[in-house]
Amino acid sequence: EAKGAGRNRYAEFRHEMHIAAHERLELESDLRSALARSELFLVYQPIISFQTGEVPAAEALLRWQHPTRGLIPPAEFIALAEESGVIVDIGAWVLETACEQAAQWLDAGTPIRISVNVSARQLDDPGLTRTVASALRRSGLDPDLLSLEITETALMRDAESAAATLRELRASGVRIAIDDFGTGYSSLAYLQQFPVNALKIDRTFISACDTHDPLIATLVQLGRSLGLVTIAEGVEDETQLERLRELGCDHGQGYLFAPPLEVAALERLLAEHSPAFA
Ligand code: C2E
Ligand code: MG
Ligand code: MG
Ligand code: MG
Repeated sequence: EAKGAGRNRYAEFRHEMHIAAHERLELESDLRSALARSELFLVYQPIISFQTGEVPAAEALLRWQHPTRGLIPPAEFIALAEESGVIVDIGAWVLETACEQAAQWLDAGTPIRISVNVSARQLDDPGLTRTVASALRRSGLDPDLLSLEITETALMRDAESAAATLRELRASGVRIAIDDFGTGYSSLAYLQQFPVNALKIDRTFISACDTHDPLIATLVQLGRSLGLVTIAEGVEDETQLERLRELGCDHGQGYLFAPPLEVAALERLLAEHSPAFA
């Protein structure tokens, strides 16, 4: 009896695995055509200056409007795109689209720096610097208005070669930010060698702000002592904002200010923003 039930559960498990594998394949093939079918789009989350309340930058975040599954968040397809390598093409599209958008905002008299996520697989791609250069050339965007976000984990996988790529990118004039900082295991020696401009402190530390977690103070201090711009991710309430200000953190993004927005909504916010965040 028990054995039979065990066998049933096993059969059920295998069936589920089969479906999962099938779904995965299907999603992967859908993802390959998503670009051509224009199902991908970018939303933009404003990054706020704690000093002035202004919006010096916005982070471009990818979304997938799937024809039958609806809106799919990056958590559900970036890893797949990485494993299959499609992220390289998708990443190039993201760079072009984001640079184009930033160039338009600049033309419209609202210069904001655009921050674009670059994944581990893209960092390994020998064509990355060329892709970045081409996005800048096509859009005419000043390289100083583009910032590339690379996670601490991606940088540390092969720190030597990452440092070389970062030097090349920096030489082209773009900025570099370390994303999700504090969640990886950076060697401080390397951190000092990476030619980066900003640290984005992971939101797990920001939510701990409420409890006066001493780690957040350490992370902000670390960024400051390295002469980097510190950016807090996932700022959700006033208590966190107050603490971050006290600590001298430079910038922040989070639901307290605005979620990631479609272009028109961000433009409305830019038109009326300043006093609201001051
Ligand atoms: P990330 O780069 O660390 O982006 C920040 C994430 O935090 C975004 O999730 C954003 O919507 C979310 N967020 C912002 N404010 C808050 C807040 O106050 N509370 C909470 N709980 N969350 C907040 P999203 O858009 O779902 O993106 C998730 C991750 O997917 C990104 O993390 C990034 O690693 C990756 N991703 C997104 N777009 C791209 C892309 O174009 N290329 C690559 N390679 N990765 C991307
Ligand atoms: Mg990011
Ligand atoms: Mg992040
Ligand atoms: Mg993150």
